[in-house]
Amino acid sequence: MPLYHSPLYNDALAQLETAQEVMGADPNIVERLKYPKRAIQVSIPVRLDDGTVRCFEGYRVQHSMTLGPGKGGIRFHPHVDLSETTALAMLMTFKCALVGLPLGGAKGGVKVNPNDLSRQELQALTRRYAMEIGPFVGPDKDVPAPDIGTDRQAMAWFMDTYSQIHGYASHGVVTGKPISVGGSLGREAATGKGVAYCVNFAYDKMDKEITHKTTVAIHGFGKVGMPAAVDLAEQGAKIVSVSDYTCALYDEKGLNVLDIIEFVKEKHTLDQYEREGVKKITNEELLALDVDVLIPAAIDSVITKENMKTINAKLIAEGANGPLTKEAVKYLSDKGVFIIPDILCNAGGVIVSYFEWVQGLAHFFWDEEQINRTLHNILKTAFSEVVRKADHYKCDMKTAAMCAALAKLEAAMKLRGLFPG
Ligand code: GLU
Repeated sequence: MPLYHSPLYNDALAQLETAQEVMGADPNIVERLKYPKRAIQVSIPVRLDDGTVRCFEGYRVQHSMTLGPGKGGIRFHPHVDLSETTALAMLMTFKCALVGLPLGGAKGGVKVNPNDLSRQELQALTRRYAMEIGPFVGPDKDVPAPDIGTDRQAMAWFMDTYSQIHGYASHGVVTGKPISVGGSLGREAATGKGVAYCVNFAYDKMDKEITHKTTVAIHGFGKVGMPAAVDLAEQGAKIVSVSDYTCALYDEKGLNVLDIIEFVKEKHTLDQYEREGVKKITNEELLALDVDVLIPAAIDSVITKENMKTINAKLIAEGANGPLTKEAVKYLSDKGVFIIPDILCNAGGVIVSYFEWVQGLAHFFWDEEQINRTLHNILKTAFSEVVRKADHYKCDMKTAAMCAALAKLEAAMKLRGLFPG
């Protein structure tokens, strides 16, 4: 498999193979799930502000469409490549299956640092990318959303480009849109909120309660980390450390989360944040803190075999996709650390994306209370199912989540059969 060789892809494959062994899944089904259904590579020429033209490389990988249209974000990041995008598309297939959405798994990306582009250049890039993958996406085919490096403005440009081509406003083509162009209430905070819900479910399972003594460290204070911090702080937990790529802030008495959010809105990074009692530490030091809850909410592969022995947290909630490598998952699970797997822990985003897609197709919008209540119910059901699988197969939570997802995919794939027969 020369095209798919990234560590993230190998880890996703290993998770799938472990689940197959543990539950005795049909190898013919698993064989099909090892490969993406379709992988599209596009070139995106953009005229830069200085008049020169630069070509960016872009992808959309549709891993599986057995359960419904492809679903998954679009990442703008310098590390994007075909293999990583494929691994992330595969994780989306399992994520959507696990939480019971009628959606398949997909992911897109452009190899670019969006911070290097002006707003005009970013708009041109997003629109040209939307145009290039346009024939393969649509409300019934594949529905993109934001991911690292993209936001609701990018989704509005994507939706507009697609709508211009088709001649009508298509609300169902992407999710994570601004409210005024068919976005859903609650979508922006959904991933982080889901992480906070899952931490609560894990505490219930461990017969513990979140109190003012519960300490939390969040690696990556962005779209996922911020709302998770807000929710957990509202419940009384002490957020002792948060970080971005520049540094981590630490206060053993607990940070003022809302103050830091206001600061980041204005200054963008944490490195200039100065408040009494707040120390600067490194991201590595944050990960090693002796806290009750550690939330890696930035990128993949931050806890690896190199630093897994330094981890002191009792509960790890995987807010990012694949933040723990398979060696780290094994070592920490064996040590008794409770790990809430990514495909469960960060599924809040795609669940509310699903609500947004449904609202867009129906042209009828829900209130925020209904969104959050339904999100909570779906995640609670999925969490209980993963715990049941972990008990049944006597395996760790990561494997259990894969088993729960694989069981649903296996059932559907067998019923639909293999074309042409
Ligand atoms: N990018 C998010 C994820 O990795 C959201 C995907 C979506 O809403 O489709 O789950």
